[in-house]
Amino acid sequence: ASNGGMETEKTLAMIKPDGLRGNYTDRIRRAIVESGFRILKDRVVELDEDRASQFYAEHSSKSFFPSLVKYMTSGPVCVMVLEKQNAIADWRAMIGPTDATKAKATHPNSIRAMCGLDSEKNCVHGSDSLQSAHREISFFFEETVWSKSETSHLSQVF
Ligand code: ADP
Ligand code: MG
Repeated sequence: ASNGGMETEKTLAMIKPDGLRGNYTDRIRRAIVESGFRILKDRVVELDEDRASQFYAEHSSKSFFPSLVKYMTSGPVCVMVLEKQNAIADWRAMIGPTDATKAKATHPNSIRAMCGLDSEKNCVHGSDSLQSAHREISFFFEETVWSKSETSHLSQVF
């Protein structure tokens, strides 16, 4: 194979509303490509409250959840499917720690150090596991999105 027989992996990267507003998109995309990722797909979308809550469902019981949803719906986001060997861990390493103030102190070359602000406004997202990557890529790039009522209707039919 062209990649030397090693399996490639896909991950979901997102430039969050503060990243888009701050005009960091080109710099981030350049860093992605220079680090050997292929950008397979990309689109700019606006999340409403429901979609943002679904995306971050695992955090729904956290005290910061309402604020997180407000942040994620404050403007458009850019979602990308990145591909390379070890894409999931490598993209997480490139973005740095969740808290951008910590990133600036301990990971000065990370993307969150470059354009993040604090523990919430950290300008980028990366899938944290193979399972999350699958879920998050379908979340944004699956053609057919079944609503709960549609799927429960189907399970009654079949
Ligand atoms: P990551 O994005 O690094 O995977 P988490 O999954 O823990 O981090 O959290 C999801 C998002 O929720 C973070 O990227 C950040 O925007 C927000 N967040 C996480 N922890 C906090 C916190 N303590 N206070 C405010 N917002 C937070
Ligand atoms: Mg996470």
